[in-house]
Amino acid sequence: MRKLSRICLAGLVLAGYVCVLAWVQGALVAAAGPQVISPYTEPQHWLKCNFHTHSTRSDDGTLAPEAVMALYANAGYDAMAITDHDHYWPGGRFGDMIVLPGQECHVLGGRMVKAHHVLALGATGEIERQPTAADIVAAIRAKGGLPIVAHPGWDGCQLRDAPPCEHFEIWNGVAEQFMSEAAGDWDASLAAGGAARCALAADDLHVPEHFGRGWVMVNAEKTRAGILSALRRGDCYASTGPTVRCVRVRGRRVSVTVEEAATIWFQTSQGKHFSIVGAGDTATHDIQADDWYVRVEVEAPNGRAWLNPIIVQPD
Ligand SMILES: [Zn+2]
Ligand SMILES: [Zn+2]
Repeated sequence: MRKLSRICLAGLVLAGYVCVLAWVQGALVAAAGPQVISPYTEPQHWLKCNFHTHSTRSDDGTLAPEAVMALYANAGYDAMAITDHDHYWPGGRFGDMIVLPGQECHVLGGRMVKAHHVLALGATGEIERQPTAADIVAAIRAKGGLPIVAHPGWDGCQLRDAPPCEHFEIWNGVAEQFMSEAAGDWDASLAAGGAARCALAADDLHVPEHFGRGWVMVNAEKTRAGILSALRRGDCYASTGPTVRCVRVRGRRVSVTVEEAATIWFQTSQGKHFSIVGAGDTATHDIQADDWYVRVEVEAPNGRAWLNPIIVQPD
């Protein structure tokens, strides 16, 4: 009996040792594996937003600020901003709609000087004209605002020449024809470790006919602070039509569920993959060992949507 007990005890000790060893090894493998960082939090509750519009306070806008806000509120938008050239709009609420403080900022000499235009979202006051676009970005940040590079491509100002800024318009309703290089420039920037991480689409409305061309869906609580914080983490996507129901990341697997039948493009650091899905279906992609980011584009008959990159941190 005593010998049997010793054998049992030795067996238990050995089993315990093996378990601890396996746990340590597992923990080491988990700690050593690459970390996949998604900007998308769950659960997802999307707010429809447009952050680039002009009113009669711009010399090229035809609608009074109240008429611009009514246009978006009546169409069920959750949030917007009035971004007049060199004029700050403090925002507030318009019925149920959140209006963020906004301005489109220009260098000394104004909007016709060849330099990037930069939107200021959520700043605490007006941004003065500055010598360079980089100075504008710094001035916006100094007032707690979120700088967004507007319509890269317009007047020859490409994204690759923009000041370091995480947010930019990948699509703009009145400058679309100048922006054909924006997505390619974005991939080049991501490959080079550039700052651009969050793509927006916007109407850049000046006249009523510009309404509803492009927007941003933001996964946020419907408050000014909630929307700005979701934008800062990139928890949003740009669209000219398609609706994304949800984006999930589990380990290295990325799943995207869409409302409309679409082609889902997975653009990675190594190349492109695509899936064709029906309405309400989910496309998945497993991030490969040598990929360090993947971003998703949804191509549907009603337009295109751009999601923000999911980044793989090296070991
Ligand atoms: Zn502009
Ligand atoms: Zn504009």
